[in-house]
Amino acid sequence: MPEKSDKLLLLDLDETLIHATTVPLAFTPDFKFDPYYVYMRPGLDQFLANISTHFTLGVWSSASDKYVEEIVKMITPDAMEWFMIWGKSRCTIKRDYNLDTYYFEKRLDKVKKKGFKLEQIIIVDDSPEKSRSNYGNAVYIEPFEGDRNDDELRYLYDYLLTLKEVSNIRTIEKRGWRYQMLGK
Ligand SMILES: [Mg+2]
Repeated sequence: MPEKSDKLLLLDLDETLIHATTVPLAFTPDFKFDPYYVYMRPGLDQFLANISTHFTLGVWSSASDKYVEEIVKMITPDAMEWFMIWGKSRCTIKRDYNLDTYYFEKRLDKVKKKGFKLEQIIIVDDSPEKSRSNYGNAVYIEPFEGDRNDDELRYLYDYLLTLKEVSNIRTIEKRGWRYQMLGK
């Protein structure tokens, strides 16, 4: 077993780890959670099993708590444990005055109470607006909408390992991370 880093890795759920849709795609879903057909991002099982030996892991989604709990149950590999599983009730509702809409934001200061400093937290999300206040902590990935050739998790895994030992996540330039990994 590799030594675990002191970092907390928070993963978004929808379009980051899975794609859930009420309209089925042309191929068999990995499972159903009524009324959704759920497709796991390619390599998800291996990604979770491996990355959990390097980081403390959490899920934070802005979907309903019940949905998050049930989906996480279905995608968790054997013997893997989550430090936290958070849904919408832990998000902060914010108003976007330009678009006149509301959105749910994940505020990392709430996680500090769980014993991690901001410089130790990495959040992976496909929706920049939900992590707007976490700019220095966020690794943005391409949304997954069911493409069976998607290989984002493979590159993400390699990239996350480069963050394992850094002293402060917030000082690392993370834009363009995928291009850095393509060359490896
Ligand atoms: Mg998402």
